[in-house]
Amino acid sequence: MKCFSTIKLSVQICIAVLIAGFFTTFYSCSTSNDLVKNGVSDYKIFVSQKAIEPEKNAAVELQKYIYKISGCKLGITDKTDADDKLIYIGFQQVPSVLITGLDTASFSNEEFIIRSDGKNLLIAGGHSRGTMFGVVTYLTDYLHCRWYTREVIKIPAQPTITLSKIEDRQKPTLQYREPFYHEAYDTQWALHNRTNNHAIPDSLGGAYVTFPFVHTFYQLVSPQKYFARHPEYFAESGGKRLESKGQLCLTNPAVVKAATETVFEWIRTHPEANVYSIDQNDGEGYCECVHCKALDIKEGSHSGTLINFVNQIADTVAKVHPEIALQTLAYDYTEIPPKNLRPADNVMIRLCHYQYCSAHPLGTCDSHKEYINRLEQWKKISKRITIWDYYTQFASFLMPFPNFETMKHDVKFYADHGVVGLFAQGNNVPDDGHGEFTELRAWVFAQLMWNPDKDAQGLIDEFVENVYGDASGYVSQYIKLMHDQVKPASAYFSIWTDPEDTNYLNLKSIQKADSLFTLAKNSTRKDTAVYKRVERAYLPVLFTKLYFYSIGGTAYVQGDLGKEVQDFKRIIAGNRITSLAEMPMVGSIPKFLERVQSKDHFITDWYIIGPFDNEERKGFSTVYAPERGFDTTRTYAGKSADVKWKQYSDNTSGYIDFAKQFTPQKNVVSYAYTKIKLDQAKTVRFGAGSNDGVRVWINGKMVLDRPVLRKAVPNDDIISVPMVKGDNTVLVKVDQTGNKWGFYFAQKNGSDVKKQQ
Ligand SMILES: [Zn+2]
Ligand SMILES: [Zn+2]
Repeated sequence: MKCFSTIKLSVQICIAVLIAGFFTTFYSCSTSNDLVKNGVSDYKIFVSQKAIEPEKNAAVELQKYIYKISGCKLGITDKTDADDKLIYIGFQQVPSVLITGLDTASFSNEEFIIRSDGKNLLIAGGHSRGTMFGVVTYLTDYLHCRWYTREVIKIPAQPTITLSKIEDRQKPTLQYREPFYHEAYDTQWALHNRTNNHAIPDSLGGAYVTFPFVHTFYQLVSPQKYFARHPEYFAESGGKRLESKGQLCLTNPAVVKAATETVFEWIRTHPEANVYSIDQNDGEGYCECVHCKALDIKEGSHSGTLINFVNQIADTVAKVHPEIALQTLAYDYTEIPPKNLRPADNVMIRLCHYQYCSAHPLGTCDSHKEYINRLEQWKKISKRITIWDYYTQFASFLMPFPNFETMKHDVKFYADHGVVGLFAQGNNVPDDGHGEFTELRAWVFAQLMWNPDKDAQGLIDEFVENVYGDASGYVSQYIKLMHDQVKPASAYFSIWTDPEDTNYLNLKSIQKADSLFTLAKNSTRKDTAVYKRVERAYLPVLFTKLYFYSIGGTAYVQGDLGKEVQDFKRIIAGNRITSLAEMPMVGSIPKFLERVQSKDHFITDWYIIGPFDNEERKGFSTVYAPERGFDTTRTYAGKSADVKWKQYSDNTSGYIDFAKQFTPQKNVVSYAYTKIKLDQAKTVRFGAGSNDGVRVWINGKMVLDRPVLRKAVPNDDIISVPMVKGDNTVLVKVDQTGNKWGFYFAQKNGSDVKKQQ
């Protein structure tokens, strides 16, 4: 077939194409090995009538993109002729010369071959996605198309597409590939980046379907249906059967029977599923009845009752559906594998990696040792392990999260350890979480999940260059700025670390990041689309500035707070961001902005003294010298040395961090003292937060006494105190039992406060 496109071509170009077409035709039978030459082709796409629907759609896909690339729309045919130049899609009716040496039946469901002898081209693979993924791979690997994000799609114009000899057989390293970022749930994105989450419909090859998705115990055996009549089906905890927020009694044969019936029902109603989940509920509440307890003790883990339970269901399922796999979690209290039991061959283990250092890749940091040990133990007893790992900041989706090293290396680590699937937990919250660089993470993960040997840094660089355009240099510098700080082995942050507890978020790094993004934005102002992407990449920096400001770090916003807040709101709205955290309660955007704009005045200028003894927390109520008077000239006997008042001032945080000021830090108390000057007598509200217990005296009178153990959060305690005109003294005492130690003290709505030392 000869074709040329007149769409969008000027008259002059049409003439050029016609001439080119003439020569193409003239030479086509002898020397040409161009699929398309100057927008003209004598190739057709062949797909058999017997091909499955995704293969027929693969032919259409190839036709569509060759047209976009070259301007030439190839015909699709189901007829073969010996003289035709054909692109064969699928294995059906392919000339034997093109499948020499191939056992076409051996191709697995996503495996394909791209083969060309220089004249004809074969793209074919296993059912159901192999052929489609072959076409996608031809477009990406040979014609250099890219689907970086939902918006940024690169289809390079190539009026001539040369067909060289190709022998390329591929299959994914991981059978199950799910980067859990919003980006990846777009059908076109998922298809062209060869993930296999549920975004790919059956007509395009389908997906790897897990049904139900996770935490399924109450779907297997419903408390609504059974609890009233059979409380014994449910976990016994503390002598009581749990109707909610618990697990099942896994050793009860009636529970096995009811659960098995449910699984057969799932198989009937959801035949599309690749795997059916028999998963413990989130949280604890495992069964402590005598039978469950005995088995768990014997197996050295709560996975004992779990594997015993799943295996029984799996045995029954295997008799009817030997091809079907079940899956169960090794998570939280079931992470340790059983000593003696082995998961049945049709049971997959989904091992979760939860609390650990996100700075360093697997195998390079002590924090992963226990987990890797567990992975290796599971590996010894199961060939079918998938992983659920966490690659987003749960506590603050929007805070900078420099964990690219884990992304770059973990997929390969898992592949080398023989795992067969990876769920990379991002922040796919409705309708769009948009944490830091989610589009980049989704794309890089997708490439590595298919082939973990790809150059991960090269992928990151390619993405940045193509998505951030003229700003890419600044964006790369920002990435480096954050990641360089967490390279040292001493750096630690997890998916739960708050901004103030990282080693990489501080006034200096945020000011540097801010100036890089100012340059980045300035360089792309003329290109609205790129500018918007740069702003989205900048959002974590802006979030961090506002976050620190909200806890008293006034230095983070030196310009107009109102403008920063307006920018934040605009970027949030423009990107449909609906939550700032995995937990909706802490992720409320209005509440965050309320804190930012609260006008609470955090008091950050103090004199401090300590530490004094607090063994058995007796020091908390011991009257030490600072409670008897403030005198900077005197020296007192502290816990391990003489101590004196010293000045403390910090405009980067309202948190008075005693842990950074005093040693020793175990079983001690310290004090802080300041004065507040008022123009007139009035009742003033204060908010305090402390780690651990706190006492506050104002003008010598105790106004707060909280002998608590807690994390310091601003405004945990609110007090109203009558104050006098002129100077008012404030004395704060905070005790320390271990780990963090410090406090917040703010005048509520205190814009009129005047400080005086
Ligand atoms: Zn039990
Ligand atoms: Zn580490």
